Amino acid sequence: TRVPVITVDGPSGSGKGTVCRLLADNLGWRLLDSGALYRLTALAASHHGVSIKDEEALVVLAAHLDVQFTSRDDVVQIILEGEEVTQAIRSESVGNDASVIAAIASVRMALLERQRAFAELPGLIADGRDMGTVVFPHATLKVYLDASAEERASRRYNQLINKGLSASLEVILKDLQERDARDKNRSVAPLKPASDAMVLDSTSMTIEEVLGAILEEVRHKG
Ligand code: C5P
Repeated sequence: TRVPVITVDGPSGSGKGTVCRLLADNLGWRLLDSGALYRLTALAASHHGVSIKDEEALVVLAAHLDVQFTSRDDVVQIILEGEEVTQAIRSESVGNDASVIAAIASVRMALLERQRAFAELPGLIADGRDMGTVVFPHATLKVYLDASAEERASRRYNQLINKGLSASLEVILKDLQERDARDKNRSVAPLKPASDAMVLDSTSMTIEEVLGAILEEVRHKG
């Protein structure tokens, strides 16, 4: 039996992560947060003193990532080499390193089978940049979720402020545009909608509206 897969690709801050979690809950399917694998590789590199330019060493780390995704009381915990890193991989510096590492073809290759192995019945929601274009080209439904850079930056800004952290909207917007450019302009698996993707612009949509639009499409495809 072929495992049904829904891919959701798009830039950071488009609402992908939240929408994917809600989709997985709603359908009772597994969730692949592929960005976490790039972030884990970046964090493992920093723990092992490996430079983000050392391609050979990075490939070895990516291929042998000792990671467990456990879910307790609905909260996903990520354990890297026995250490809980759920929050640590979310930092801006790990995100930036991840996007540099993610431009290396051999690193992407090393993570490919690990990502495909997440596809299990009853189905998989795959969140990332190249889920529909490279990792799951035969997905049941492909979504590309976009939003303006200004809107994505202001969402990120509000998240940080609500956590009681200080933040600069200007700096966030600049970082986000740099990361977008790196993800869209790289030669391997660049961020772009699959030719058969349903493109949604969430700039002026609520999460509920985005979720509703995707679930409606899922029902159509039956
Ligand atoms: O989605 P997230 O911000 O966690 O991803 C971190 C980085 O990993 C992205 O900026 C992107 O460069 C890279 N990535 C990727 N392909 C994916 C998922 C993430 O290149 N499928």
